[in-house]
Amino acid sequence: MNELTPVQTVDTRTQLVGLARPQLTEAVVALGEKPFRAKQLWHWIYHRGAKDFAAMTDLSKSFRTRLEEHHVVGRPAVAREQTSVDGTRKWLVQFDDGQKAESVFIPEEDRGAVCVSSQVGCTLTCRFCHTGTQRLVRNLTPAEIVGQFMTARDSYNEWPTPTDERRMLSNIVLMGMGEPLYNFDNVATAMKIIMADDGIALGKRRITLSTSGVVPEIHRAGAELGVNLAISLHAPDDDTRSAIMPINKKYPLKDLMAACRDYPGASNARRITFEYVMLKGINDTPAHARALIKLVRGIPCKFNLIPFNPWPGSTYECSDAATVTAFSDMLANAGFTAPVRTPRGRDILAACGQLKTDSEKLSARELRLRAEQVRDVWTEKERVEI
Ligand code: SAH
Ligand code: SF4
Repeated sequence: MNELTPVQTVDTRTQLVGLARPQLTEAVVALGEKPFRAKQLWHWIYHRGAKDFAAMTDLSKSFRTRLEEHHVVGRPAVAREQTSVDGTRKWLVQFDDGQKAESVFIPEEDRGAVCVSSQVGCTLTCRFCHTGTQRLVRNLTPAEIVGQFMTARDSYNEWPTPTDERRMLSNIVLMGMGEPLYNFDNVATAMKIIMADDGIALGKRRITLSTSGVVPEIHRAGAELGVNLAISLHAPDDDTRSAIMPINKKYPLKDLMAACRDYPGASNARRITFEYVMLKGINDTPAHARALIKLVRGIPCKFNLIPFNPWPGSTYECSDAATVTAFSDMLANAGFTAPVRTPRGRDILAACGQLKTDSEKLSARELRLRAEQVRDVWTEKERVEI
């Protein structure tokens, strides 16, 4: 070999983070260990937050060496971390294939929510959303979804897992890039890992899944995960909604409202959240508020009014403050909780709908094919229970 040729070794070790429990057990058994060792490993990964096997001191030296030879326990790389003047923190995480996604931590007084992405880009093209201008590149794997939350925990040094009362990173909202219900199986695997008692142990009531309204998958989120549901509603009638959210043509409001009425576990104590972005002159009149009140009749719900967050190239404007207040008051007078969400992290483009990473541009046909392939591959591969 020429002296100057660099020696390249290909790392074929596989990631243990993101494996459902039966698969982790299989991996342990494949290394010649008893199945119960998987429990110890799980504890190290998800309770202690260990990033390498050397730290796992109650596993035998030889087991650790074998683990090291065949596997990794890692996180996505952090390509950039930014903290807003209001304390909101955003991470641009980079995955093994170079693709990137964003996650955001929104701190409150003594707690806070981590907003995680479920896809790189989004197939949907909601007109007001920055992510919607980015092509779908692919679904995120369970490892990449769990990895975003673990990265946030690393950043605040919140390991080992504290008890619920002492958690700063106390909630998860699936409100980052992508449509979680178009990647349901991977999202479900990731959330089950996050919910497991002997690891990260975040309860289902602390997890909120937001969807633009993928009607056929909504029931599963309640039945299989039992998480809180948020619907990106944004309009009270089909004409207005279809104009700003093309998915409404496929799943119109009648079907969407029926899916909400059927959502397992929804009750007055556990209401569905309707997100409503306030767009000047589009969906913000008193007539819209009245139609909205009529639309959601009988559904245990609350509203979250989101002032439109601008992004480079966006064509909408946020409704005036007085209009937003009047809208909120009308809903409140009809008996609904309807707070106006304070925009967080706007200075670092971390607020709702501002997330975007660079992803390749493909033709519409290529995109459709890619999206279909991605969906098929991932639904086949990741249908696993823990
Ligand atoms: N794809 C899912 C998850 C993203 S959640 C969904 O659409 O529900 C992000 C929330 O922010 C959604 O309610 C979305 O409609 C809203 N949003 C998108 N763009 C926005 C913007 N520019 N300003 C305010 N909210 C926006
Ligand atoms: Fe996708 Fe949600 Fe943005 Fe619509 S609002 S483009 S579904 S990320």
